[in-house]
Amino acid sequence: MARAVYIHVPFCLHHCGYCDFALVANRDHLIPQYLQALNNELQAHRRIVGDVVEVDTIFVGGGTPTHLSPETLRSLFTLIHQHFRPTMNAEISVEANPDGLCTERLDVLREHGVNRLSLGVQSFDDAVLRTLERTHTGAQAVETVRRCEQWIPNVSLDLIFGVPEQTAASWRRTLEVALTLPVRHISTYGLTFEKDTPFFRREQHGQLKRTPDKLERQMYLEAISKLTDAGLRHYEVSNFAHPNSECRHNMVYWNADEYFAFGPGAASYLGGVRRTNVRSVVRWLKAWQQSETAVEESEELSNEEKAREAIMLALRMRQGVNVPAFERRFGLRFAELAGAALQQHVDDGFLMQQSDFVSLTTEGLLIADTIIVDFL
Ligand code: SF4
Repeated sequence: MARAVYIHVPFCLHHCGYCDFALVANRDHLIPQYLQALNNELQAHRRIVGDVVEVDTIFVGGGTPTHLSPETLRSLFTLIHQHFRPTMNAEISVEANPDGLCTERLDVLREHGVNRLSLGVQSFDDAVLRTLERTHTGAQAVETVRRCEQWIPNVSLDLIFGVPEQTAASWRRTLEVALTLPVRHISTYGLTFEKDTPFFRREQHGQLKRTPDKLERQMYLEAISKLTDAGLRHYEVSNFAHPNSECRHNMVYWNADEYFAFGPGAASYLGGVRRTNVRSVVRWLKAWQQSETAVEESEELSNEEKAREAIMLALRMRQGVNVPAFERRFGLRFAELAGAALQQHVDDGFLMQQSDFVSLTTEGLLIADTIIVDFL
């Protein structure tokens, strides 16, 4: 039985132009219907599993879960706890934005056992925040992180590089400010221009300019050196943590273990079957209001497909694939499955083999997505 659960809360104050997550903005009148639909989806899960499930991690993501009012947040957690019982040392994470994370909301989160906050700070430079259409300032972000420490000391920051017009100096400054703050974990993402986002369209019309590859690469390398010099461990392509502060919920994904997932666009992985809910918030709502399943895609993976996915996910971790453990788990030879791609990438300097592990080199990290898909 899976021991991790993800709950998707699809509401935001504003729909940032680069974001392609499943969410709605300015549709808060849908929040009561969302809670009802989520209740129905959780009830349906309960009929299958028959009892409350004990879990090691709960991740409430979005969207912006803390966009919900304190009262609604309370109802949401009451609902989650009716179906999932966290173990004594469970990690309970909530995604939040600096604006709106008031004392009242922090109180509710703490009361319900939340012990990790993932803050969508993105930058401490107001010009970059404006380009990203974020609704907070750098100063607000600093103040929020400091305040959170008194409620929920395990704080993680999301930061974005490669934003149009962002300079190397601005990125460096953001990293430096982050390192002055009481945070245990930092995620750094290169901005992507996802199809169907306003940013993509603006880029196509020449209104936004992509950051040159060379500068983006320099920004990523700077993040690696600054953050690791400050004592954070680079444990996954985009993630850095102080000792024992890795995100345990995300480790479940990267270890290709099982997890439950609820809400629009949420994907679960149970018994070798990946099920993805419809991304449209309204379609998901309508389906579950009538207690009809809102699964859009369901795929049962063969043992070989599971193994290939596990390679892909493990390569995202700096430790890489533990070859003997992988072969015991799937009963397949790693070298046969990895085929010619393995030797080619080793020869090209993108992958390295050290004792039992195969992992990305620093050069490989810079083109991780390209390397990883070769194992699918
Ligand atoms: S606040 Fe976060 S989830 Fe919401 S639209 Fe912006 S980037 Fe997306």
